[in-house]
Parts: sequence; C-alpha cells; structure tokens
Amino acid sequence: MTVSRRADFPLLVANPELHYLDSAATSQKPKAVLDAMRAYYEHDNANPHRGAYDLSVRATQRYHDARTRVARFIGLADADCLIFTRGTTEALNLVATAWGHANVQAGDEIVVTGLEHHANFVPWQQVARARGAALRVCPLTEDQRVDLDALRGLVGSRTRVVAFSHVSNAVGTVNPVNDIAQIARSVGALVVVDGAQAVPHMRVGFDALDVDFYAFSGHKMCGPMGIGGLAGRRAILETMSPYQFGGDMIEFVRDDYSTWNVLPHKFEAGTPNVADAVGLAAACDYLDGIGMDAVLSHERALVRLLSSRLAEVEGVHVFGPQPEQRSGVVSFTVADIHPHDLATILDKDGVCIRAGHHCAQPLMRRLGVPATARASFYVYSEERDVDALVRAIERARAIFASPQLVE
Ligand code: PLP
Repeated sequence: MTVSRRADFPLLVANPELHYLDSAATSQKPKAVLDAMRAYYEHDNANPHRGAYDLSVRATQRYHDARTRVARFIGLADADCLIFTRGTTEALNLVATAWGHANVQAGDEIVVTGLEHHANFVPWQQVARARGAALRVCPLTEDQRVDLDALRGLVGSRTRVVAFSHVSNAVGTVNPVNDIAQIARSVGALVVVDGAQAVPHMRVGFDALDVDFYAFSGHKMCGPMGIGGLAGRRAILETMSPYQFGGDMIEFVRDDYSTWNVLPHKFEAGTPNVADAVGLAAACDYLDGIGMDAVLSHERALVRLLSSRLAEVEGVHVFGPQPEQRSGVVSFTVADIHPHDLATILDKDGVCIRAGHHCAQPLMRRLGVPATARASFYVYSEERDVDALVRAIERARAIFASPQLVE
C-alpha cells in the first residue's frame, strides 16, 4: 500500500474519525488548493480581459496561466482548445448543443453506452429528439464493460456521434478509449468522451487519444466546485457556433449582427471563473506532485483490498469488472438491505458512502437493481477506511438480522 495523503487535507485532519468514501461524487481539497485560491483573491483579484490597469492584467495572466497548466495536465498542447466550463455537465451540454443541434439530421443516429451518467446520456437523447434522430444504447458485458462486438454491430453510415465515459462513475469500469474511438472512426462519427472519473485518477493524454472532445470536472480532482473543462479539436471548435452569448465572447457587435472572438473565448461568455481556474491549476500541481501512476496504484490497492474483504461477507454482491479494469470505485449491494438504509447506518459510524442510482438510471435498469451502495477512494484513503466500512456493513447486517427489526 502506498502512502495516504490524508495529512494534506484540512477537512480530514479536522475530522480524524471520518471515513470519507465518496470521492467519486466530489473529492476533498488539499491545503495547497485552498491557499492558492485565497492568495488569488488577496493579491490578484479583478475582472480579467477588461481593464487597462495592472491588477486586471495580473488577473488575466493568472487565468491564462491556469488554462496552460490544466491543458498540460490533460496532455493538450494547444491550450486555447481547452474551454473552461462549470464542469463535465456543462462541457457535454456545450458539445451536444453547439455541435449536435447543428450537425445531427433527421434519420441520423447517436450512440451512447449503457454505462453513461445522465450528463452524457440526456443531452444526446434531447438532441436526438429535437433533430428526429435515433439514440442507440450500446449493450454491456456481464461484468459491465462496453461490449465492443455489439458496438461494431450498432454503428453504421448514419452514426453521427459516439459518446461514452472513459471511466464509469457507477461501477468503475475503465473503458478502452482508443478501441471504442476506432470503431466510431470507422463510420466517421464524432467521438465524445466523458472523462469526469478518469482525469482525477489516471494519466490522461488528450492529444494521444483519437477523440474529438473530452470533458472533466475540477471538483473531483482536488480542485474547487464550479470549474471544469472541455478539450476539443481546433478544426472542429473553429467551425462551431457559440452556444452562449454576452461579454468576452464577441469580436464586434453591430445592431443587426455580431462576430465572434477567437478560441477559447468564443465559448466562454461572461466574467470567467478565475479563482476556481487558479484552484484547479493548483490541483494539477498537487496531483502531479504525487504522480498519476501513484494515484491509480494507491486506489487500485484499496479496491483490491475492499473487494477481497467484501468477498468474505455473506450476501454482498460487487458490480463491475476485476479491480485491474476498474478505477477507485467499489459498487455493491448487501442482500435484504436497501442501499439507502445501509448508507444511513454506515453514517452513524462515520463512514460516508453514496447510495442510489448514481445519476445512471439506464445502467441501474440494466443491472436490475434500483440502486447500489458505492465506496470510492482517493489519495487520502487508507486501509483503516476499508476496515471501518467492512465493520459497519457487518453491523448493518446484524441490525437487519435481528428479530425485533423483522417484526
Ligand atoms: N459524468 C460522470 C461519469 C460523473 O461521475 C459525473 C459526476 O458525478 C458527471 C459526469 C457530472 O459531473 P459534474 O456534476 O461535475 O458536472
């Protein structure tokens, strides 16, 4: 087991008895990120791009530097092709709205997979409905991987978009991005990847991936809430119309028409979220300081440990592929205990897990369950968190087995 970084996270230091196992929902924030944001507000805060005065120039520079830093973190050389958004949801809606509505025609097809978070499902469903296209959902294997043979059979000359997650938030499956992209490319489809659960946990090299768009969220990778990004291919971004209008994104405004600013500003209408961009850049520094390979192996070790411990608990069913094909997520059910009841009982022991459909109702339907319980790890997770979780599950089982409760 590699070293936990718990000491870097003020919230966890202040709550030594807390077992935070909900990092797939949002991560805790290291002091380095909190300090960077505070320093920005204390020393450099002004509205960027607008002022001729030095302070505004400094704020503009901080924003620009943050973009360059984050782009480097995700392996994107052309930093102007990184659009800052509120997060993955906004990034995917941007593509669906600005590209989808303009390019998908009646009779076309959009392919998503049965693993998708609603953020990468509903926007495409809505494009399909609005344009008279069909949404096709790629089936999964028994262990919740994308069925590549089924995908080959599903795509065709009418497929305009293949949208899929790099890593599933609900069961942790790590998808083979380039294999899926190759199948999409074989029919000339746009390739859109939801990287919300990948960028925080593994090395992602956008330029080395054969994809057109890649979306991610800052708050899941030690950064603040309210910032994320969309990496895209310049040739495609240049052809797209803006999807929001206002300050910063224009070149000229006449009474009857307007022209647009260059990338990335064309897609960033209004005052940008500079402090959160600065925080996200600090999060990239923080994660690079650990090393993304070390992050992944730390999580995998905990996933392996928890999986083996859960295998010894009667009535537990774990979803998803083997730990080697999963990120730091363990999604499971315990016989006769609803995941919501389980999460409530665990909370009494200071164990924070997520219970529900994980914004993936189409997947839950395919699994035949209304919900699962999900434990998810990050750089601050420790073996004692696993111990506490397993102990608390045993306690929940004992409570539900007691005759008083059954009566
Ligand atoms: N996609 C996946 C796989 C996710 O896990 C999440 C968040 O849980 C999202 C998209 C949406 O991210 P956000 O809420 O940060 O926009």
